[in-house]
Amino acid sequence: MSRKPKLRSIWVFHLNTGSCNGCDIEIIDVLTPFYDVERFGIKLVGSPRHAHALLVSGPLTRQAYYGAKETIKAMPPEPRVIVAVGTCTCSGGIFYNGYPVYRRPESGREGREYPRRGGIAELIADLRDEGEKVGPVIYIPGCPPRPEEIIYGIAQLVGLVEKKLSYQEYSDELVPFKLPEGPLEERIRLTLMERLRHLVGYLDREKILEDFMGLVKEAEKSENPREELARLVKDYAAKCGDVRLGFCMALLEREYWRVRDALDAGKEFVYWV
Ligand code: SF4
Repeated sequence: MSRKPKLRSIWVFHLNTGSCNGCDIEIIDVLTPFYDVERFGIKLVGSPRHAHALLVSGPLTRQAYYGAKETIKAMPPEPRVIVAVGTCTCSGGIFYNGYPVYRRPESGREGREYPRRGGIAELIADLRDEGEKVGPVIYIPGCPPRPEEIIYGIAQLVGLVEKKLSYQEYSDELVPFKLPEGPLEERIRLTLMERLRHLVGYLDREKILEDFMGLVKEAEKSENPREELARLVKDYAAKCGDVRLGFCMALLEREYWRVRDALDAGKEFVYWV
């Protein structure tokens, strides 16, 4: 928590920014008579306009981004406390660098060169850049956090218990993001595999990529590999008779040459997903 709010009883609004619903179930849990969070004066309200605090779950998908932004703007400017429930809301969790997760544009860096981190901190940074007031943020990690942990976080929020660890904000300057480097061919393969995951998920991508790399090998034997690969991909799509596979192959071909051309131009390459 970045600073200690002075709150007696707080009204909270619950917002799902793309969660798998695990965290939402735990949030409902703390409101049941068994855990009874209302005994601390915490009440769930139906509109952000009445809320002191926003209880957020989920990794912040691109779809949820604008809705979440408007929700925070609709809250009264003070105290606008944000409670991030679950690892996804804290740092992207299992959705980290996933296709649907929001990525904050960063100047001087191309979109593919850094991960889609997700998490509510991305939106808060945008709001603060726009001059919007956002109050203290409390992070409750866990996948999902147990009801006791949510209650403990809220108890810190209302000042019932003292926080034992000091707050530290993550930034690239403090902990530079670095992917391990591997052999070049392997890095190209992993880059293509990651792009393919966005289209077909995890299940079929190995087989499709294996087929594509076979075509690349064959094309490289010819005098003009670019034209040869285009021809082989076209033949493959016609033979398999599945437009989805044809689409995947076309994407892989485009990505393959994007990476190869950039390498030929002397661009530094780790992984470009
Ligand atoms: S932290 Fe776990 S339970 Fe919560 S939304 Fe993410 S994946 Fe689901």
